[in-house]
Amino acid sequence: MKVMKFGGTSVGRPERMHHIASLVTKETEPTIVVLSALSGTTNALVEIGNNIARGDREGARETIAKLEAHYRSFVSELVKSDEAVAKAQQIIDDHFEFLTIILRISFSEALSKDILAQGELLSTKLFSVYLAEQGIPHTLLPALEFMTIDSYDEPQIGSIKVKLSQQLEQHKDKKLFITQGYICRNAKGEVDNLKRGGSDYSASLIAAAINASACEIWTDIDGMHNNDPRIVKKTVPVEQLSFEEAAELAYFGAKILHPASIWPAQQYSIPVKLLNTMQPDAKGTLITANAASVGVKAVAAKDNIIAIRIKSSRMLLAYGFLRKIFEVFEKYRTPIDMITTSEVAVSVTIDSSAFLKDIIKELEPFGSVEVDEGQSIISVVGNEISQTSDIIKRLFGSILNIPIRMVSYGGSPHNISLLVPAAQKDQILQQLNKGMFGLE
Ligand code: ADP
Ligand code: ASP
Ligand code: MG
Repeated sequence: MKVMKFGGTSVGRPERMHHIASLVTKETEPTIVVLSALSGTTNALVEIGNNIARGDREGARETIAKLEAHYRSFVSELVKSDEAVAKAQQIIDDHFEFLTIILRISFSEALSKDILAQGELLSTKLFSVYLAEQGIPHTLLPALEFMTIDSYDEPQIGSIKVKLSQQLEQHKDKKLFITQGYICRNAKGEVDNLKRGGSDYSASLIAAAINASACEIWTDIDGMHNNDPRIVKKTVPVEQLSFEEAAELAYFGAKILHPASIWPAQQYSIPVKLLNTMQPDAKGTLITANAASVGVKAVAAKDNIIAIRIKSSRMLLAYGFLRKIFEVFEKYRTPIDMITTSEVAVSVTIDSSAFLKDIIKELEPFGSVEVDEGQSIISVVGNEISQTSDIIKRLFGSILNIPIRMVSYGGSPHNISLLVPAAQKDQILQQLNKGMFGLE
């Protein structure tokens, strides 16, 4: 069995849905198709939730009306027969009635998650109507019945495995399954999600749960590029990456993959392929345990980073100092991305300001605390990169003009990270493209 995940742009137009139907029906192996919401939908749903949270019901009503009009026009081109049109319109009626009812309920976190789930529910149901109109046998698998997270928001792979195989068991005769990416149930049994871009994570979790032969991530670009194509003009696809390399790139900002989407596939040794829906014959990127070559493969950047420096003469020759500092971050469940130390100071970075005030307050007894917001981490990734000759010369030589706040080298053999002011990120990515990849 294999998994094919299609992102928002890949399902965002009626003709694209027609096209992916032709891609998935070419498969000879039984396949689970994981769909995102149509592009723009989750952003609109976030806006509706924010409007309701602010008490701006009129704003929410307007966004709902615009979104509904978009879906009405989408289905008018998606399906043709009266029966399919009626079915698709009924689906839209149901989901938009739900959104309208929500306008009358007082806002809560749980309600906002219900709103966010509508996108994937709509895309999968509409795709199913189209497949049925085409006479393509398939089964809709409701993700809310098998995709679960625990009270720490961690996916429960064991239980996902059991529940998903029970569902598949009921449809032994079927070869094509459609399910929602992104959405799940939390420990309280409420509707929740795997965070923005989470459909990649769903696909990898499902692939791990069924021990799939491959997990294909179909998107709007031909694989992982050597640099961020949204910022740098000339970028090229990387043909092969190891799980470690891909995980570092995803975690450090390569938007093509959700930050956590590699570990499930890695744990179960399932090859991940990044493919382009618009160019299905392009090679894309193959991600396996094998890195294919050593040296620099790609750079990525992660935004909204906060650097915290704790300076204390008591740190000198002291043990236990770092433990006390780490305990503060643990208490507020805030992961540290980068860390550098000297005899009298330690600098760490975090990517969430949710508990920043509390964290600072608890760190202050240990020494003076300085905070720099608006930073970016630039990560240079490649197999055994730290052993690659000349790497430091090429890296720093490419960005001699840039002030660097922190450097992390040697933590992982596959990554060198720099902390820089966010305002200089674009320029650095461009200079690295020239200096490290010879691309202009
Ligand atoms: P989907 O909706 O299919 O999940 P995303 O927008 O989440 O697609 O991810 C694909 C996008 O990721 C690309 O269009 C590209 O702009 C962006 N991206 C950022 N960094 C990279 C990279 N290193 N390689 C490829 N794409 C990247
Ligand atoms: N629809 C969700 C989002 O836009 C999940 C995804 O596309 O992966 O974040
Ligand atoms: Mg995505």
